[in-house]
Amino acid sequence: MTEHLGKCPVCSTAERDRLTSRDRYGEPYSAWLCHGCALIYADPRRTEDEAETFYATEYRKQYGYEMRSHPLRSVVAPTISDFLRHFNMKPHRVYEYGCGTGDWLVELRESLGCKVFGCDSDPMVMRAAREQGVQNDDGDYYDLIVYNHSLEHMRDPVACISVAKSTMLAPNGFIFVAVPGLYTWSLEHLWQSAHTFQFTAKSLEHLMWTCGMTPLYLDEMVTSLWRRQDEPFDRAQAERWRIIRALSPLLKDG
Ligand SMILES: [Zn+2]
Repeated sequence: MTEHLGKCPVCSTAERDRLTSRDRYGEPYSAWLCHGCALIYADPRRTEDEAETFYATEYRKQYGYEMRSHPLRSVVAPTISDFLRHFNMKPHRVYEYGCGTGDWLVELRESLGCKVFGCDSDPMVMRAAREQGVQNDDGDYYDLIVYNHSLEHMRDPVACISVAKSTMLAPNGFIFVAVPGLYTWSLEHLWQSAHTFQFTAKSLEHLMWTCGMTPLYLDEMVTSLWRRQDEPFDRAQAERWRIIRALSPLLKDG
């Protein structure tokens, strides 16, 4: 890891506290808490070229997810399609950043009948996704863009979300984000050298706000659903979703 930042890559604040100097395996890895935006970020980190090589050849060997996508850790639903059903959402076109072998997209297609698109930086898993029918971006808009445990790996999450919002997201479209939540994940599994960021619900909300997105649902796991701030919205629907969010600890057992 040869890129040194010296300041927060999102808000440029230099003041910070070091939270760790080792990853979960005891290897050198420094995570810092930004005084400006409360994001936790890795510094030093991989350069763009180093990251490209790492994800294409090493990442899945090292972290063992091999050919499986990350499970949904939401308190309201066991799968992405159940989660979307809670919010009365039936997207027609879905795009996933970091889709792995496409398991989530296939589940969505089979449950909700969506057309599914995606990308992944590991060519081997991308081949498997293609074999499952996951298509390349066709340049048209998407009703739902998914970041399932991919945003914490990105070098510039603000640019990624902002570009997706302005060039790929349909009017009234939604963005789904799941990342490991600092308050809910076991502390011994927390620090991973592949993670350029570590989020809480609040620090993700701050980042998404700077991208012009506002939450419809956000919990501390962190599982979340976002819409554009400037779009007119059905207030009754928004309140229904707020109620689901408030009752999520009870819904977990029901
Ligand atoms: Zn910051």
